[in-house]
Amino acid sequence: MSELPFRQVAIIGLGLQGGSIGLALQEYLPGIATTGYDRDPATRDRAAQRGLVGHVHDTAAQAVAGADLVIFCVPLGAMGDAARDCAPGLLPSALISDVGSSKEAVIRALAEALPEHAIIAAHPVAGTENSGPDAGFASLFKGRWCILTPPETAQDTQIAALRALWEGIGARVEIMDPAHHDRVLAVTSHLPHLIAYTIVGTASDLEEVTQSEVIKYSAGGFRDFTRIAASDPTMWRDVFLSNKEAVLEMLQRFTEDLTALQRAIRVGDGEQLFDHFTRTRAIRRGIIEMGQDDARPNFGRSENA
Ligand code: NAP
Repeated sequence: MSELPFRQVAIIGLGLQGGSIGLALQEYLPGIATTGYDRDPATRDRAAQRGLVGHVHDTAAQAVAGADLVIFCVPLGAMGDAARDCAPGLLPSALISDVGSSKEAVIRALAEALPEHAIIAAHPVAGTENSGPDAGFASLFKGRWCILTPPETAQDTQIAALRALWEGIGARVEIMDPAHHDRVLAVTSHLPHLIAYTIVGTASDLEEVTQSEVIKYSAGGFRDFTRIAASDPTMWRDVFLSNKEAVLEMLQRFTEDLTALQRAIRVGDGEQLFDHFTRTRAIRRGIIEMGQDDARPNFGRSENA
């Protein structure tokens, strides 16, 4: 697409995701006007100071006025309310999208709030453990996947425009069915977060191991879980509530596999453990080959870290 895919993009929610999209659009697609709104006045002030979007408005309806694309970058549980707040200012032709980490529940909430509008939901698989208006940066989406989950009724031109926008800010785009998205992300993102939250909680509850020992010896594996377990509590509460079915299904499978490994340890089945660990090592190699992580030893940390 040689011309710009949209004239004006309104971003609702100016935290990590919204701020990063605003900065990325201004840097990589500067011909597109950007407007934004966040419900928190302090976030709006900070967003304006940092220049996260071209213009920060004091109401959602003002922010979306004239926009041909509106992207909701709020917690999953706030999507419906945020969309209702925008309704009075929306152009009938505006395309509605989002960045939510689960898709079926978000699409339902947006469609209920804005039944007359075209909706193409999206999920950039890119983030950090930080949130709020200081967390965003323009290169967040470089080389990362953004999954679009258009309904069957979506117009090809609108799908192409949204794809061009995400590719324009550095992402690689994949199209997926919403239910399939929710199962894939349940196992690649949501379950790992649940496990990290559990293990960090377990370690901090142990009576016979002190907190200082947990911190001192964390390089034994624990600290990589702590990075994930430091993720935003609001966001992750909403992820588990909104992608409940898929997460529970993957958790059931995980529990069965964990029980099998537990048994292998109890009966001394070294062969089963070795075979399992060999298989998982190959997955790590595949991730590095696809450029989705750092191949340097110790994740590229300095020797003393
Ligand atoms: P964030 O940094 O906390 O930003 C969300 C912002 O939305 C906050 O400033 C919040 O204000 C604001 N907000 C809440 N309700 C609102 C409403 N009704 N109207 C307007 N603004 C509202 O969160 P984030 O990490 O950017 O996450 C946003 C979305 O991205 C979530 O749906 C999440 O699932 C998705 N996502 C996150 C990641 C990640 O790694 N973080 C990755 C991919 C997708 P308050 O602070 O006052 O609540």
